[in-house]
Amino acid sequence: MRAPATSPPPTDADGRPLGLHDAPGGLGAGSLPADPSTWPLSAVYSALASTPGGLDEDEAAVRLVQVGPNALEEAAAVPLLRRLAGNFTHLMALLLWAGGALAFAAGLPEIGVAVFLVNVINGLFAFWQEYKAERATEALRKLLPSSVTVLRGGAERRVAAEELVPGDVMVLAEGDRIPADARLVEAHELAADQSTLTGESYPAPRTAAPLPAGDRPPSARTNIVFAGTSVARGRGKAVVFATGMRTEFGGIARLTQGMRIDDSPLQRELGRVSKAVAVLAVGIGIALFVLVQALTPMPFGRGVVFALGIIVAFVPEGMLPTVTLSLAMATQRMARRNALVKRLSAVEALGCTTVICTDKTGTLTQNEMTVRALWLASGAMEVTGVGYGPEGEVRRAGGRPGAAPADVRMLLLAAGLANDARVVAPRADEAGSGRWTVVGDPTEAALRVVAAKAGIDLTGEEQVAPRVLDLPFDSALKRMSTLHRAAGRVVLYSKGAPKELLARCTSIRVDSVDVPLDDEHRRGVLAANDEYSRQGLRVLGVATREIVGSLRGVERGDLESSLVFLGLIAMMDPPRDEVAAAVATCRRAGIRILMMTGDYGLTGESIARRIGLLTGPRVRIVNGDEIDAMDDDELAAVLGGEVLLARTTPAHKLRVVTVLQGAGHVVAVTGDGVNDAPALKRADIGVAMGMAGTDVAREAADMVLLDDNFASIVNAVEEGRTVYADIRKFTSYIFTSNAAEAIPFTLFGLSGARIPLALDVMHVLTVDLGTDLAPALALGAEAPERGLMDRPPRARDEHLITRRLLLRSLVWLGIPEGLVAMTMFYLRFWSAGFGGQWLDLPATGRLYRSATAMALAGVVMAQVGNLFAHRTDRESVFRRGRRPNPLLWIGVATELALVLAVVYVPPLQKVIGTAALPAAAWVPLIAVSPLLMLLDEARKAVVRRRERLGGQR
Ligand code: ATP
Repeated sequence: MRAPATSPPPTDADGRPLGLHDAPGGLGAGSLPADPSTWPLSAVYSALASTPGGLDEDEAAVRLVQVGPNALEEAAAVPLLRRLAGNFTHLMALLLWAGGALAFAAGLPEIGVAVFLVNVINGLFAFWQEYKAERATEALRKLLPSSVTVLRGGAERRVAAEELVPGDVMVLAEGDRIPADARLVEAHELAADQSTLTGESYPAPRTAAPLPAGDRPPSARTNIVFAGTSVARGRGKAVVFATGMRTEFGGIARLTQGMRIDDSPLQRELGRVSKAVAVLAVGIGIALFVLVQALTPMPFGRGVVFALGIIVAFVPEGMLPTVTLSLAMATQRMARRNALVKRLSAVEALGCTTVICTDKTGTLTQNEMTVRALWLASGAMEVTGVGYGPEGEVRRAGGRPGAAPADVRMLLLAAGLANDARVVAPRADEAGSGRWTVVGDPTEAALRVVAAKAGIDLTGEEQVAPRVLDLPFDSALKRMSTLHRAAGRVVLYSKGAPKELLARCTSIRVDSVDVPLDDEHRRGVLAANDEYSRQGLRVLGVATREIVGSLRGVERGDLESSLVFLGLIAMMDPPRDEVAAAVATCRRAGIRILMMTGDYGLTGESIARRIGLLTGPRVRIVNGDEIDAMDDDELAAVLGGEVLLARTTPAHKLRVVTVLQGAGHVVAVTGDGVNDAPALKRADIGVAMGMAGTDVAREAADMVLLDDNFASIVNAVEEGRTVYADIRKFTSYIFTSNAAEAIPFTLFGLSGARIPLALDVMHVLTVDLGTDLAPALALGAEAPERGLMDRPPRARDEHLITRRLLLRSLVWLGIPEGLVAMTMFYLRFWSAGFGGQWLDLPATGRLYRSATAMALAGVVMAQVGNLFAHRTDRESVFRRGRRPNPLLWIGVATELALVLAVVYVPPLQKVIGTAALPAAAWVPLIAVSPLLMLLDEARKAVVRRRERLGGQR
């Protein structure tokens, strides 16, 4: 099916050869029809001025300059101005605008200006945080490169999808995303998933055969692969004819892929909370205003100030953007730990994960295969050497009779030919230190290595017996085969899961002779398979047959039947080093791990025991076909126990995820293949492999593991739990000062102004939008608390703001902080020898302003202790070994600098309404700063004691 390399160049009507500039896709089609699907195979390369070996690098570079990068133009984002405006028109901002206007109406222009100013600063701050969060996620998107394999100068290379140009020859494999429109020149069992283009999710078979001229929709152009679609199965080669906006997809829509920035449930909850709080604040403000007007002779203007104070005190202005920023920062921390999160809401779901369904190969294991043993009917052999280098030998296992050399050769030849992998030698300059590397499937690479160890020259053999047909690996069939033609004969080589392959065999090779397969042979094969599997080895069976007659119209199942069994190949794939610790962490954190492997049960069990995933004496191994026979209730019951799912297919994954979710679990599932996409989408957290995974899986997933390592999932769960805990911490921290600020207003109102107002609106704003902000951000970056991964996961429907949080922040810490403010206020009068004519107190007097400054400083100093109190929830802050958080000290420094500025810098004194404090005033102020921390220590001690007692019970 390969296009002949030396086809005569096609000419146009005048006999001129066609070149790049005559090609379609914006380059002009010359006399060949414009539709590349009608071009004869022999004309494809020359029509696009390319060759079967692809373009050379220089030519590709020139074309890139000529046609531009292969990228779709970004759809216009929401204009910056509109987004900026959005931060000034939400409910909270509208309230503040109204408040400011009210102040103007009441003849208090300085308050009005201040409130307006606050709204402006607040809006700008929120906009800046949003922008930063967006930048952070944007940067992550760039970490997920989209690349494609092409032929350049005759060799395969991975290039960025953006660098693709017309004439490039793409090498397509299952799961690849197709980044440009291209005409197929080779197709083996190829089918494309064109759902992005046609909405049709059934894979569309593709071939290289030219079509007759005629108008047809894209889906009917069967020899074209389109940008934005992907390879559902099979493999092939295609020559690019249109890139970027010139592709079919570019014409229809912008490719929506990668990061989705949607509001997470947490953000939505916060939105609801802050709206509720705002409404509540306005309600209380108005009610108290009416009460005060009715009960006291307070002038209307002061009444307005008072109501405004209550409203502003209660509204947590800066909270929402701070949450978004914390989530975005968490995604960056996760990326540093090799987990790329594509949606902010996934961060929260990670924190509630109760079950992780994981593959074995590559995720729990290293995916570094080394063949250790061969089993043949005539005897067993062992293989020495490690890694993918050809050093090592195939020899008799100590003391036992070896297998017949011709049989060993046949076994390894078959396994080496039914094989798409390549093993690459270290570069010459790295000789000695460099490692042999693998292109393709490591399982297959290991088979090529063992063939080399046995002295078989596979490259030579492939020339002698070229491949004529592929029956690609299918995870449901668990086997692959290839057909080769040599000396007029066609021979099929097949390899796959031993039991399943054996079932398709009718004879077995013993000492170069094929004898009928009897029960004793079968028992021998299966016993050897079990024995290897119990040692944790991955075992493949190998078989062959000669095909007589035409291949036309013969079904795959018919070709792969009546096989001759050649033997077993057992390979080692050791568990990853970090996995045992990660499994232990999950155990403590109340997260179940369910291994769902395509491999044989005993192999899976052996690995699972080695990493501590299974510990019970009797573990239930359930195979895929047993799952098929169960209804959902039975399956749910099985999944409740210690179980290992073996010989599963991606369809089982989807079903298991669905059943687990039905039982109330929050499920994370790993996947790498095209068929895993539905399960990845269905799961609460779809986790795709960044290295071994296909583009399709990566696109369907919520999170991509850059190192394919199970341990990275557990790290991400820890980050997910941490960020949630941190958001709670700063919410609680902010609520404490909000409660404290409300107390002076309430006392003032309820006492009918007999208790003077210790803080006014400007002071409240100084705390809410000044001194509190940096410390709150610092809490958002706190390290995980000890024991965070020793607790069961948070319930998904648990609210961020709980009764416990409100009791702690508003009552246990908020009321004392409010009383501190009042005490400091009175202390200032007392120390100045004031007699107590409270009702006649001149509101503008120096002493009064100094006393309010003292109350303000009291709140700020108490917040310093509160900041440290909020570092932990149950653990004592005095316990050593906590990770330092430099932001915390920056937070404290900013807080203190701000309060000093407000108290001592004259222009600020004027705006905020303060007066300088004598130096001695700082003695009680500093003395109260640890108060909240100590109060909270007492609470934490009680909580810990209760937990200990609860644990003993
Ligand atoms: P896991 O699902 O844990 O990653 P796995 O790699 O064994 O494990 P699959 O890729 O679904 O899962 O493979 C299923 C089975 O198919 C394997 O256990 C093996 O017996 C067989 N198999 C895997 N790769 C090949 C291959 N390249 N050629 C032939 N058979 C294969």
